[in-house]
Amino acid sequence: MKVNALCSRLMLAIVVPVMLITAFLYPLSYAYLEARIDGSRVGAQAMLESGREALQRRLNECFDDIVATSRMPLLKYYLDSVQTRQSPFPSTAQQLTAERLALLFDTLLTHSGRYTTLMLLNTRGQELLHVKYGKRQDKLSTGRSYADSVYFQEAMQLAPGELYISPPTRQPSYENANDSVVPIISIATPVFDNEGRRKGVLLSSVDWQSLTTDMRHAMSIDSTAQPILIDGQGNWLLAKAFGTTTFGRNFKVKFPEQWESLSQQDHGQVEMDDRLLLFQTIDIRTRQYRSLASGIYSTPSYYPWQLGILVSKPRLTTLFDQDVPVLLIFMLYALAILPGIVWAISSHRQQLLKREAQQYAKEVRNLYDYAPCGYHSLNAEGRVVQMNRTELEWLGYRAEEVIDRLDYSHFITPETREAFEEAFQGVLGPDQEGSAECALRTRAGTTIPVIIQATAYRTSRGFVHSRATVFDLTERKQLEETLARQAMTDPLTGLGNRRYLQDQAVQEIARAERSGEPLALIAIDLDHFKHINDTYGHDVGDRVLQAFAETGRQLLRDGDVLCRMGGEEFAVLLVDTSQSQAIQIAERLRLTLENSPVEVDPEVTGNGWLHYTASLGVTAILVGETSLKPAIKRADLGLYAAKEQGRNRVHWQPAQ
Ligand code: GH3
Ligand code: MG
Ligand code: MG
Repeated sequence: MKVNALCSRLMLAIVVPVMLITAFLYPLSYAYLEARIDGSRVGAQAMLESGREALQRRLNECFDDIVATSRMPLLKYYLDSVQTRQSPFPSTAQQLTAERLALLFDTLLTHSGRYTTLMLLNTRGQELLHVKYGKRQDKLSTGRSYADSVYFQEAMQLAPGELYISPPTRQPSYENANDSVVPIISIATPVFDNEGRRKGVLLSSVDWQSLTTDMRHAMSIDSTAQPILIDGQGNWLLAKAFGTTTFGRNFKVKFPEQWESLSQQDHGQVEMDDRLLLFQTIDIRTRQYRSLASGIYSTPSYYPWQLGILVSKPRLTTLFDQDVPVLLIFMLYALAILPGIVWAISSHRQQLLKREAQQYAKEVRNLYDYAPCGYHSLNAEGRVVQMNRTELEWLGYRAEEVIDRLDYSHFITPETREAFEEAFQGVLGPDQEGSAECALRTRAGTTIPVIIQATAYRTSRGFVHSRATVFDLTERKQLEETLARQAMTDPLTGLGNRRYLQDQAVQEIARAERSGEPLALIAIDLDHFKHINDTYGHDVGDRVLQAFAETGRQLLRDGDVLCRMGGEEFAVLLVDTSQSQAIQIAERLRLTLENSPVEVDPEVTGNGWLHYTASLGVTAILVGETSLKPAIKRADLGLYAAKEQGRNRVHWQPAQ
């Protein structure tokens, strides 16, 4: 239970800050990501632009070369001479011109490095000159006819300075066993003489790879970027693009969705897998290429081209790898969570302490309520403001009947109220304490002797209330009484002892003084008791003493006080008894004793009965005598007299 509470607090302490921080970081991260995507889009756009310019520049150079070559006077001269000569065999001069021209073509090929072939055709499509890059040929011409070729026929339709361009195509004759792709693009332009007469066609094959080198470099500044060039039919135009995809493969088939966007817009962006493709349309046939060529023509279905750049799109996960310091974010979370954890633990501890304190308070309250003594608090007027259960149970009241309703003096018996009031004043006074032995009156009408010990509870504002402890003295009183009784009782006979007699005498003398009633005293001594002891044993002597006490108790009135004075000597204080009555009582006692033998073991006495007698001295307690002493003395004198007169008799001893 306790552990669960701590766990849920910890969960709260972790989840809330984590959610808050995440709620704060999430849009921030996305804004940052958007900015990164924008940045990479801008970078890609710049690369796309420079790629386009590089391609344009290269093509322009190429076009310029072809147009310039077609206008060379030597070329015109050669064509003219070839056309005007009737003989099928070339003249020496013509041969020389052809060789010079071939040398020129060869220089051009070697110098630029981007042309693979330069050919010169006459107006019938017959090859007059054929120069291949890197190959010195014995023959200047193969003599082939290109009359049926598209580029010858197209070029024959063109005006001076106009070009026909073929789509980039693979050139199997250059490809080797390594499966290398070698695409070329063929460019054809008509050649005119100075009078504007059509003289032939200049045909060149251009290495497509070298033509696009600058463009590819410009678009690969960022190592993750990749250039893409697609013709009007959806074919890849770069030797290697997009992983394993190579020249000639169909983009349209592989990415129909993206092709849809590309073919319908002249610029824009599409997503490819997890990458971004920015593209724009380029059409090399348009006049935007500021070359010497006055017009560029081609097979329409292959144009325009789509030039694109493929860049990786920044993602949230990759951002954390690169830009965002993970440690910082971790620390941010840790800092946010830490106070929560501290709060959770400390509040849990507080909760535990609070529970402990409540438990402790409950225990203290129980101790207060069920203590073996009474507790109560009174305000300055003596009204009960608190009382524990023990005292309430003693008194037989419920708390709501007493608290703030009754004065404590209500429970004090009238006899002890004064002592209580005095003690309470002591608590209110400078001593701030007081105690009193009182008796409490219970609801049932019984009384409980108690001692109340109280102190004042004060604050800086003065007396608040008294705090009293109440001890039940019932048992103590009973014990005291038992002890007192024992102290005044003879254990052998159960009669009062000499002290008891004196104690009773004080009261009786005082009462007799008030009432004027006479008091008498009888002193009794058993006759020859030593002889009984000596003859029958001490135990028998004890039995005789007990038998005497029993006889005396039965014979005497309740108010008379029979006591054992010591040994085999006894005394009787007779209340409201005159001299004659006292003598009568003594005589009756003597006679009864004489006729009340003690039952003993038959072996002891022979018949099982032991007779004994007593001598008695009787006197009156005189008016004015405050103690029993003189009366005892007189009774003893009477007793001696009785002994002297022969024992077993009563002797009246008057005052002298
Ligand atoms: P007398 O007739 O003159 O009184 O003679 P007595 O023998 O009774 O008198 P005495 O004073 O010489 O003897 C008293 C005897 O009582 C002595 C004592 O041993 C005996 N005695 C005193 N107290 C007790 C007691 O508690 N039990 C018994 N068995 N004997 C006691
Ligand atoms: Mg004696
Ligand atoms: Mg005796």
